[in-house]
Amino acid sequence: MKRFIGIVILIFSVLLLISGCNGKDGGGEQIVGIAMPTQSSQRWIQDGGYMKDILEERGYKVDLQYAEDNIDAQVAQIENMIVKGANCLVIAAIDGAALFNVLEQAAQNDVKIIAYDRLIVNSPHVSYYATFDNFKVGVLQGSYIIKALELASGSGPYNIELFAGSPDDTNAYYFFDGAMSVLQPYVDKGQLVIPSGQTNFDQVATLRWDGVVAQQRMDNLLAAYYTDKHVDAVLSPYDGLSIGILSALKSVGYGSTKDIPVVTGQDAEIPSVKSILAGEQAQTVFKDTRTLAKRAADMVDAVLSGGTPEINDTKTYNNGVKVVPSYLEEPVSVDINNWESALVDSGYYTKAQLGM
Ligand code: BGC
Repeated sequence: MKRFIGIVILIFSVLLLISGCNGKDGGGEQIVGIAMPTQSSQRWIQDGGYMKDILEERGYKVDLQYAEDNIDAQVAQIENMIVKGANCLVIAAIDGAALFNVLEQAAQNDVKIIAYDRLIVNSPHVSYYATFDNFKVGVLQGSYIIKALELASGSGPYNIELFAGSPDDTNAYYFFDGAMSVLQPYVDKGQLVIPSGQTNFDQVATLRWDGVVAQQRMDNLLAAYYTDKHVDAVLSPYDGLSIGILSALKSVGYGSTKDIPVVTGQDAEIPSVKSILAGEQAQTVFKDTRTLAKRAADMVDAVLSGGTPEINDTKTYNNGVKVVPSYLEEPVSVDINNWESALVDSGYYTKAQLGM
């Protein structure tokens, strides 16, 4: 009997050992480096935090770094991750084109690369891209303006100014193109007028997604084109820019002596949700960072176990060398009418976090 029990224990131990090595809990001592762009934007703090938690729960060792929008610092952090033996890197690039050399180094060390919500361009070594439907983000922003100004029923003309994101982030082009795909017909019909005449991406882009830069540009636009005109809408691709744009508008009386324009945004960051609740920013696009973090963690699991992660797009994200297989999560438009169901009932924020 004793011998029988001994054999059973032995078989059990072997099974446990096998499942410990290959099982769902991931990679034992495998290391995942997570390179995030900046902590100046709340969303990236959440993305990094969620991913770290999920991956650690699955048994990976995680090295999470933020580079505060400094390209050289991000390259150095990634180099360091490679030297420290990372098996897989999840990267949200500051400049999508600046990582060519360091990714060569990663590939030589057989380190797998996953691009996280910002495409890495010109490199053949990007295995997968976890992101949202970026064109749709822009469509949601543009459509919100159309609905708020009732353009479909022929209203107008209304004055609008356009802002785009950072020119070194491919997402910025998808957001802008998505928004203009729905707004341009109303510009063509004369229902939307752009007094500054600044309509090309290069004219309206905002380097490093910097809210201060957006605020300064809005200040300049107001001084140069709006002394006798009213701004009715501002296309803003990101909450951090929206807050800067709104500061510029408020400083010349919008929201007090003049009606506040329809200002869009993205990321449902707390200051912007509070601004929506205060009747200032009109809209944001909620991209659930919990969902994206889980998606990226699943990709890590797959590449490190020699498997294939689930993807739902094999056409859109050409990085100049290859089309990077991607998973696009769904963005959701949020305003004063659905903030509670989208952000609080879903457990993303508590009311207390929103100052309520
Ligand atoms: C992300 C957006 C974010 C922006 C600024 C983009 O790459 O997709 O969610 O608003 O960067 O951080």
